[in-house]
Amino acid sequence: MNGGLTQSGKSLLSENQPESQAVDTCWGNRWKCVWKMGLDLLFPPVCLCCLQEFPAATVAAKLCQDCDEALQADSSTKCPRCGQLVGAQALPTGSCAGCCNSGSPIDQVYVHGNYDGPLREVIIRMKRDRYEILTREMARLFARSLASQWEGAPPDVVAAVPVHWLRRMTRCTHVAASLARTAGDQLEVPPTIDLLLCTRRMGKQAWMLPDARRRNVRGGFAVSSTTSVQGKHVLVVDDVMTTGATLDEIARMLKQKRARRVTVAVLARGLGDTIGTGSLRR
Ligand SMILES: [Zn+2]
Ligand SMILES: [Zn+2]
Repeated sequence: MNGGLTQSGKSLLSENQPESQAVDTCWGNRWKCVWKMGLDLLFPPVCLCCLQEFPAATVAAKLCQDCDEALQADSSTKCPRCGQLVGAQALPTGSCAGCCNSGSPIDQVYVHGNYDGPLREVIIRMKRDRYEILTREMARLFARSLASQWEGAPPDVVAAVPVHWLRRMTRCTHVAASLARTAGDQLEVPPTIDLLLCTRRMGKQAWMLPDARRRNVRGGFAVSSTTSVQGKHVLVVDDVMTTGATLDEIARMLKQKRARRVTVAVLARGLGDTIGTGSLRR
């Protein structure tokens, strides 16, 4: 810190800025820093993931260093069609063996991480009302990793997996919409959050077996009457993909509406043993 002077002694401040005002601003910023440091000493910041206090030196961070590292994008090799981990094995046909004959309407899946460990914990927390800051922080990490993995031209439309209005009344958060908004900003595509509609109330998928999940969501989604997806590349965003039944159904409906391409991006992909079904997608 050299008090706003370069080595040559020339001020770094704008030449048009009155010197007294510049000094005030400088002292104002210093007082703000001192005030913030004092507050951090009295009320140390708490990591939004592990809820442990962490040093006041990292005041700007919302996550401690360990959690921040654990929640970064997972770089393991995944099948680009279903997002399942495939290890180091080669994908000669461009997708895993399970996807070759699946006939899935999804063209590509981007995955930030696996649904276990700290990522699973934060996703459960993000669904609660008082964790909006955590949702914003995770949306930022998600959107950044999505943009860095994205190949080719950006999508034409960014949409979120919808929640039925009755469920929205009992839950203030809509995690998929928050993720879609931030992803749209990062990809420079204005998100169309209300593009997809949930046309009826569906049972909770969590404890259903894969076949029951598919029956549960069949015909349960529609496209808003104000938007056409014909010929468009649609990016559909959700927080978790487990069997893929919901996202398959949405992609199938979008293809029926003549969407050219459907890409899915999820914060977390369920692992094979997450729901105890072995192969999740089928
Ligand atoms: Zn932490
Ligand atoms: Zn696959």
